[in-house]
Amino acid sequence: MQAMPIGVFVSAGPELKDKLQFVKKAGATTVQMHCPPKDARSPEAIEKIKKLLADADIEVTLVFIGFPGESYATIPIVAQTVGLVPKATRAERLTEAKQIGDFAAALGAPGVGVHMGFIPEDANDPEYKEVVKTAQELADYVGKKGLRMHLETGQESAKVLLRFFKDVGRENLAINFDPANLILYGTGQPLEDLKLVGRYVKSCHCKDAAKSAVKGEWGRETPLGEGEVIIPEFIKILKSLGYSGPLTIEREISGDQQLADIKKAVELLKKCKKDLGIGGCGCCCS
Ligand code: MG
Repeated sequence: MQAMPIGVFVSAGPELKDKLQFVKKAGATTVQMHCPPKDARSPEAIEKIKKLLADADIEVTLVFIGFPGESYATIPIVAQTVGLVPKATRAERLTEAKQIGDFAAALGAPGVGVHMGFIPEDANDPEYKEVVKTAQELADYVGKKGLRMHLETGQESAKVLLRFFKDVGRENLAINFDPANLILYGTGQPLEDLKLVGRYVKSCHCKDAAKSAVKGEWGRETPLGEGEVIIPEFIKILKSLGYSGPLTIEREISGDQQLADIKKAVELLKKCKKDLGIGGCGCCCS
């Protein structure tokens, strides 16, 4: 794989075939895929997805774990509903997360991505210890299948994430760095935080955002390059960290505008790579 191949975040739904063809046409070569629901993870369904990927010559670099009942409507609702932190759903979601690990392995992906949810900031909180155990159990399960487990940034500060990362203490643990989330949730400064956790970053979301004027409320996601992340700097820091993983564009809107913004984002990332001398073999690839 060439250094920092460009990718797009897609969902494994009925639109996957068209989406993969679009991704290819836009000039990207990889995808991160949000997992399909339970009833669409049969061996037959997996073979179908593999064929669509092969036909489009697209590589899947991560399968993202998601659960029914999650809502990103407001930040407090995220805290109640998202990931493996909410206690009421933790056990059943851990079981489902393992099944998604099975799906990712069968698909040939090298890892799974997960939003843990709002990790308690107090390391002495008994719930913190339970969440650490949950993450260890999932990391061990997917690790036995040869997969990494990538924790997405944003719902906690980089400092809390780093401590959690060390407390979980598993070799196959990595970070999926989403710079925009730190702005959207108001939890950090993307470029500074990237330097802080950079040695663990094995994947990232190329997403941009502008912060909210009101503390505790969502910031606003923007097309890549139009927010406050400073994308060329973001790529430059990734390079300085020795990062060579995919640059996966995530644009969390739908319809034609989403497609138009992704196309522009691919062009922006190509330019950033070119300006920084990041390419393929140096003679025939770009
Ligand atoms: Mg993200």
